[in-house]
Amino acid sequence: MSDVPEVQVPDYAVYKTLLESTKAIPWKIDWSSMKFAYIGPQIEQLLGWTPDSWISVEDWAARMHPEDREWVVNFCVAQSQAGTDHEADYRALTREGDYVWIRDVVHVVRKESGEVDSLVGFMFDISERKKAEQKLMLLQKELEEFSFKDGLTGVANRRMFDSVMAVEWLNAQRTQQPLSLIMFDIDYFKQYNDHYGHIQGDECLKEVARLLSSGATRSRDFLARYGGEEFVLILPETDRDAARKVAERCRQLIFKAQIEHAQSDVSHVLTISLGVGSIQPSRSDEATPFIEKVDKMLYQAKQEGRNRIMAGA
Ligand code: GH3
Ligand code: MG
Ligand code: MG
Repeated sequence: MSDVPEVQVPDYAVYKTLLESTKAIPWKIDWSSMKFAYIGPQIEQLLGWTPDSWISVEDWAARMHPEDREWVVNFCVAQSQAGTDHEADYRALTREGDYVWIRDVVHVVRKESGEVDSLVGFMFDISERKKAEQKLMLLQKELEEFSFKDGLTGVANRRMFDSVMAVEWLNAQRTQQPLSLIMFDIDYFKQYNDHYGHIQGDECLKEVARLLSSGATRSRDFLARYGGEEFVLILPETDRDAARKVAERCRQLIFKAQIEHAQSDVSHVLTISLGVGSIQPSRSDEATPFIEKVDKMLYQAKQEGRNRIMAGA
């Protein structure tokens, strides 16, 4: 017996058992031949391909989603050549023809001389994480839409109007082009709701939004729901005469739709009142007083008997 204490060196079999019992899939690629020296047997459970079918990096590249292949291969080759540890997420092809999201984490092993000897790494199944990420992205998109869109009519909401108005105001100041605004308010809509009920009132609002959208034809014309039964239309690069024409077209679109309104004092069908304003804002002009003036025009249209357009400002 020697006096030297026995050093416990775990043998190769222990490492192998450890490596092959993890969820992550270990692998090794020999750099000079670009061939797999090893891949964990777990790969078969995840992707269906047997370990001995992974011969070279070409098999690895071939079993990748075509949309991911080019950038992943280029990226991994460049990083390995530079001797940098790296990782890449991609969709790996299963034997059944499906795809599984994989995160491949790669360590570059160098020889004593500094040359790259091999690549070792782990593949992780990240499909659950990706699914969660995608769901989050979808929710985010919906949230963005909801925060700019009016939930009932689908046109832009007041908040979006404020943003677009600010942008168009600056544009008009910079280009010295006229900017017009039309405000709409449904006549006797309270009576409409009282008579036909709120559900039909909501349907009516949707229809009015649809009709008004079709009244504005230029790509930058912008319709928003301004309040309960009030809408607003921004008309960039549009002068007074053109704006009045658009207003008249909108008024007629609503009237010609012949939406029954038995309780209206001005007609037997649904009508709207409109305020129109046009401005060529100077550098010092503010948007708010202009919007207020257009609102006053609308109020005057109501005063003068409704189902009409008042233009000024
Ligand atoms: P005026 O001709 O003076 O505009 O009369 P009005 O009754 O249309 O005006 P008022 O502002 O007094 O009433 C607006 C009504 O619009 C009040 C409310 O019942 C209705 N309203 C507002 N938002 C909604 C909505 O989202 N859905 C429904 N169904 N009705 C709404
Ligand atoms: Mg109103
Ligand atoms: Mg009204």
